[in-house]
Amino acid sequence: MTALLEVEDLHVEFRTRDGVVRVLNGVSYHVDVGETVAVLGESGSGKSVTAQAVMGILDTPPAFVTRGSVRFHGEELLTASAERRRRLRGDGVAMIFQDALSALNPVFTVGFQIEEQLRTRRGMSRSDARARAVELLDLVRIPHARQRVRDYPHQFSGGMRQRAMIAMSLALDPEVLIADEPTTALDVTVQAQIMDLLAEIQRERHMGLVLITHDLGVVAEVADRIVVMYAGRIVEQADALSLFRSPGHPYTEALMKSLPRLDSKGTVLDTIKGLPPNLLRIPPGCPFHPRCPRAQDVCSVQVPAQERLGFGRTSACHFASEVLDG
Ligand code: SF4
Ligand code: MG
Repeated sequence: MTALLEVEDLHVEFRTRDGVVRVLNGVSYHVDVGETVAVLGESGSGKSVTAQAVMGILDTPPAFVTRGSVRFHGEELLTASAERRRRLRGDGVAMIFQDALSALNPVFTVGFQIEEQLRTRRGMSRSDARARAVELLDLVRIPHARQRVRDYPHQFSGGMRQRAMIAMSLALDPEVLIADEPTTALDVTVQAQIMDLLAEIQRERHMGLVLITHDLGVVAEVADRIVVMYAGRIVEQADALSLFRSPGHPYTEALMKSLPRLDSKGTVLDTIKGLPPNLLRIPPGCPFHPRCPRAQDVCSVQVPAQERLGFGRTSACHFASEVLDG
C-alpha cells in the first residue's frame, strides 16, 4: 500500500560561507491515512527542515536537497512543477507554525485570510466563504465566531491565534497536516487544549498528522508513532506504546529520563549532558557518542546502521537490542 506521505533518504545541506552544513543526512519516514506521527528532537535536529522540504518552502539559507524523495500518494514532489506544488499546498498537505502571530498577516482580518483561500482556490463567493470561515472558527472552538471573524490577529490571545491558524490550515481540507511546534509559545494549560483539539480534528477527519516537537511529554498521548531525530538523522522510529514501554536508542532513553513524572514530584530530572553537535562538524561514528552514557570504542569510529527491532521499529545504535532489554 502506498503511504499518504513518504520521505525517503532525504539529504539537505546549507552551503554557507563557513562551509557545508549537512542538516539532513538520510531521513526516511512515512505517514499513513489517519495516523499521527510525532517527530521529536532538539532544536537543530532537522525536524523543521524536513517539514519545509515536504512543503516545498525550503528557502532559508542556501538550502539544497542533494538526495532523496518526498512522495504524496506516490507522486514525487521534489521534482514537481512550482504550479503543482502550489496546488498541493494547503490542499494536499497543510502546515501550521509555532508562531501564529508571524504566520498570520497583521493587516487583514482573520476571516479575510481564511476567506481568501476559499475564494481563490475553491472559487467560493464572498458570502459562502464568510459562512465557511465562521464554521471553521467554530470548529476550532473560537467563541463568538460570527463576531471574531472580523477581528485582526492582534485582537486574539496566543491560544486563540493558534486556533485561528488551525482553522486557516483546515480551510482546504488537507489530507496531511504538519504542525511545527504548534504549542511551544503557549502556557501549559493552553498547550494541552490545543493538542486535544488537533487530536480530535485528526480523528474526525481521518487526516494524517505530523506533530513536530522537542517535548515528548506534549505528544505522549496523541502520537501513534514516534520518529526521534538527532543531528539530521533518525535515531529511532517506533509505535508510541512500544517506545514508551522500552526505548530502543540511548538518546530516546535520555529524553524519557528528562520527562517530568507524576510519581517523582520533587526529584531532580536527568537532563541530557552536553549540547547537540555543531552540524559543520558532526562527530565521526555515532553522532550521539560524545553525550551517550552507553558509548563504547566502536561508537566513535563506526556509524551505526538502522537496526530493525521488529514491528516497524528501528534504532540507529550499535547496541540497540541491549538498549531495548533495559
Ligand atoms: Fe550510544 Fe554507541 Fe548507540 Fe551511539 S551507537 S547511541 S554512542 S551506544
Ligand atoms: Mg524548528
